[in-house]
Amino acid sequence: MTVRFADIAAERPTRDSLTAEHATIAGLLDRGDRPGALAAWDAARRRYDTWAALVHLRFAQNTADPAAIADRDYADALSPEATELEVAIKRRLLADPDRAGLEAAAGAHAVRLWACDIATFEPAIKADLEEESRLSARYTALMAGAQIEISGQTVNLAGLAPFAEDTDRAVRHAAEQKRWAFFAEHGDELDAIYSDLVAVRHRMATKLGYPTYTPLGYRRLRRVDYGPEDVARYREQVRTHVVPLVARLLEQRRIAFGWDRVRFWDEALIDPAGNPQPLGGPAELAEQAQIMFDRMDPRLGAFYRRMHEGAFLDLPNRPGKAGGGFCTSFPTVGMPYIFANFTGTHHDIGVFTHEMGHAFQNWESRNQPNIDYLWPTMEAAEIDSMALEFLTYPHMDLMVGEAAAERFRRMHLIGALAFLPYGVCVDHFQHEVYANPTATPAERHAMWARLEKLYMPWTDYGDLDYPAKGGRWQAKQHIYGTAFYYIDYTLAQCCALQFWVRSRNDRAATMDAYAALCARGGSAPFGELVQSAGLASPFAGNALADAVREAAAVLNV
Ligand SMILES: [Zn+2]
Repeated sequence: MTVRFADIAAERPTRDSLTAEHATIAGLLDRGDRPGALAAWDAARRRYDTWAALVHLRFAQNTADPAAIADRDYADALSPEATELEVAIKRRLLADPDRAGLEAAAGAHAVRLWACDIATFEPAIKADLEEESRLSARYTALMAGAQIEISGQTVNLAGLAPFAEDTDRAVRHAAEQKRWAFFAEHGDELDAIYSDLVAVRHRMATKLGYPTYTPLGYRRLRRVDYGPEDVARYREQVRTHVVPLVARLLEQRRIAFGWDRVRFWDEALIDPAGNPQPLGGPAELAEQAQIMFDRMDPRLGAFYRRMHEGAFLDLPNRPGKAGGGFCTSFPTVGMPYIFANFTGTHHDIGVFTHEMGHAFQNWESRNQPNIDYLWPTMEAAEIDSMALEFLTYPHMDLMVGEAAAERFRRMHLIGALAFLPYGVCVDHFQHEVYANPTATPAERHAMWARLEKLYMPWTDYGDLDYPAKGGRWQAKQHIYGTAFYYIDYTLAQCCALQFWVRSRNDRAATMDAYAALCARGGSAPFGELVQSAGLASPFAGNALADAVREAAAVLNV
């Protein structure tokens, strides 16, 4: 039977209801019933996560709705309470001297994750966590509220995308002028929100006994098998192997277009004939996607039918909607949900296939034994999403038409490569920010400007003063919302590119390896998941160099 999104309901928990639930679980542990306690706890977490997912989704769907705002505030306030109770159970389970028995009952990786989690929380940081959520919501609401006049229309930041890649250079320039005028206008507020976020994160780290926020940030992302040194080495690989390639690609484009130089507002126009556009709007793309996924794999096709028929998709951009795209899930029913902001550009296709990768993974791993395994940690989750972007390449005629399919693939591949230097720059910036938590806003802007020259030396902002002075990072939601969550996309891109290389040789076998990886969900840490799929670790050796060499050959650069 098809579950419909409209039928999903979740009772609103209270502090008292959560406390009562946890008392029941503690009682089961008191009586020595560990299996009973684990089962009751898993069910309680599924109920809570389903409720929280609904609240955050409804807020994202309409950030101006007073009821949605009130619910989100309520959830933000309750979240530290829920964390406290959850950490108490994890501590109690981990205190059991029978660690082998616990690992057998709950899964060795789950136990490792809990050991990581309990080092990220003490009741003393509850108010800080709440403040962090509040600040992050302020950023989301500020961005969502942008109203920009361009070419006789009023659009939000997501709605600028079609203008930012218009074939008319003056329109692209105007779009970037408008975008950065918005950031300049709100620069002080954006700096203040971020200063407060850095301060509250540093304060939490100090209270928990960490020298800076960095080790705490890594633990909050449940990174159990690599650290900042590995990530720094990876950034260096990007600098060595990708930055020169992207520079060559831009020079190739400059010549093809006959531009005097490549300005910042030119970078989004990748294809001299105009970036290929989707064949239709959200409804048409949703229909075409069914044909595409059916052709790719019966598992994928059947799953997408459930998503589509059950209305687990919210694709069009509209006023008041939060920016970006994401996939969330309702673990009581085992169904994911895709949120996006389609604006009629090729990004719609990229976002669609990306979020479908997340959704398919969540679905494939729905029978994993516990809630900790339904999603992998984020760098591994992004392999599942980014790989699907590449695996859909042979079917792009369904999305952009036969004539534009090859041009779409080329544009997407260039975009994937050009993303890497930016992605590692966002990461490097945050390492510097949290190593220097008392830096002033001006110092942070200078940090960004310096790093940008390292990773994107070609950037030419022309008369765009705000980003020219180091303000570009403020447009990146992740820097505000989830510190250190961004390198994840670049690590995953290295793995997704490997799937792409393999699929060029054997499409069916690669699809099977991909589905198998999805089904493993989060049952192992990043390194093990990567290895299990036969991929080379981004941290080791030549994984990136090999994939980039293949891409350079395909792109003839
Ligand atoms: Zn993603």
